[in-house]
Amino acid sequence: MHQKTQVYGMINLMEKQKTIGIVGGGQLGRMLTLAALPLGFKVIVINPTPGSPASQVGAAEIIADLYDAAALRALAKKSDYVTIEIEHLDSEVLIALAAKGTLINPSPKTISLIQDKFLQKEFLHQAGISVVPFVKIKDEMSAKKALKNFDGKMLIKARQGAYDGRGNMLITQPSAITKAFRLFGGRKLYAEGFVPFTKELAVMVARSMDGETAVYPLVETIHQRNICVEVLSPALISQKTSKKAEAVARKVAQLLDGAGMFCIEMFLTKNGEVLVNEIAPRVHNSGHASIEANHTSQFEQHIRAITGLPLGAVGLKVPAAAMINILGERSGPTSLSGLNEILKTPHVSVHMYGKSPTKIDRKMGHITATAKTLAVAQKRARRARKQLSI
Ligand code: AMP
Repeated sequence: MHQKTQVYGMINLMEKQKTIGIVGGGQLGRMLTLAALPLGFKVIVINPTPGSPASQVGAAEIIADLYDAAALRALAKKSDYVTIEIEHLDSEVLIALAAKGTLINPSPKTISLIQDKFLQKEFLHQAGISVVPFVKIKDEMSAKKALKNFDGKMLIKARQGAYDGRGNMLITQPSAITKAFRLFGGRKLYAEGFVPFTKELAVMVARSMDGETAVYPLVETIHQRNICVEVLSPALISQKTSKKAEAVARKVAQLLDGAGMFCIEMFLTKNGEVLVNEIAPRVHNSGHASIEANHTSQFEQHIRAITGLPLGAVGLKVPAAAMINILGERSGPTSLSGLNEILKTPHVSVHMYGKSPTKIDRKMGHITATAKTLAVAQKRARRARKQLSI
């Protein structure tokens, strides 16, 4: 009799397991899933193709486009908490679902605002945050005028649907404007003055459901071809700059509705100015080293925040960490080699995302190395990257 009660108890426990629904099942969804399972949650994702990186580590899948209203509704029905791993989705449907009571974090209104890079900058500027100089352009004429105003160097950017530098073009002569309009034809565009920054910085901020914020130590991000290639944690900057950037990040996080992780990307200028470049209302490439380097990884923190659990400690637990993205270098089926060599080195971790095929500049995985100094961490990570091919 006693045994039977225990068995029923276990079944009840299992029935109570809560589900997190994630819009998107890529590498961020995969690492969110890996953080959610040990906390006792089940995960379901929406992904356009089966066998997503998230499903490979235990998430259930709805195969659909992220703009598919019926799929978003189905996800909401199956989930106790809904979140996102990418902001290119139908935010109107999420707004409607939230109005009907689905717990969605970050707030779909925040997602909607951030989807449009121009509106995002306008919102921040109006709130008194220093942003990269920007201007609306409606045609080639206005773009040419902008180029003059920006002293002959600017970027034309697609307002929506742009990521990893796709949708950005550096313009240094009027003829390039015609090329940009041809390339981005039909998309809404805007222009930004080119900022000759000394460093790119990123701040990960967590916001709990009751508005508490926790700011991770600043990191430096290094980009090539508009794509993040390396992240150094912590950023080697003065205390004054660090305080300034942290204050900006806290202010930005308080302007945005909803719980979860936010990434605030910034440029540091030679005059010590901190300009906000972009916000992501989600876990971000800039925060990957937190898995090994911080007391609470950005992924666990996001899961805690969106499910109403207390935020974890954000401090570094190692002196320094360097993260290198494993970007595809060719096109073809994935073929991983070199892992054996890398794993002989202590303090180096490899995270593969389970993607195939490999494509030029596709994010296939990342490597994090920790050390007593940033220089050693960077050396370890770079050596490991050289040993690996995919
Ligand atoms: P984005 O996706 O718009 O954040 O741009 C990707 C990368 O391009 C940034 O991380 C920078 O390295 C570079 N970039 C973007 N906007 C600017 C700008 N206004 N001035 C200088 N570099 C920029």
